[in-house]
Amino acid sequence: MSQSQGSSFQAIQEYFQRQSCRYCYHPFAADGVQLLREEPGIMVVRVSCLECQRPLGVAIVGTNSKKNQAKKTIQSEWTKKDAQKFEKMPAITYDDVLEAHQFFDSLGSDWTRHLAR
Ligand SMILES: [Zn+2]
Repeated sequence: MSQSQGSSFQAIQEYFQRQSCRYCYHPFAADGVQLLREEPGIMVVRVSCLECQRPLGVAIVGTNSKKNQAKKTIQSEWTKKDAQKFEKMPAITYDDVLEAHQFFDSLGSDWTRHLAR
């Protein structure tokens, strides 16, 4: 992991530490944010509450300011079906991370199985 990506992940952790669990209203801990997958320009993280053990969900966070670049990565490396699914959704950048809440609200908790390994 390069230094810049590491600091992006740290920024994501810090972001969620300012958010509260929807179930127990406890702020999330840094350890509750797990990096699932890393692509150029994108990080996929799973957020869960360490207080009540309930998962918040999975967030895709763009780690650079070029929205189109992140979108291209999704289209080239993920299946066509997934790409079409994501095409209808707005591209998410770190600045837009608030919208990620709505984004992963709409995804099932088993959504990560669609990710290529
Ligand atoms: Zn909780």
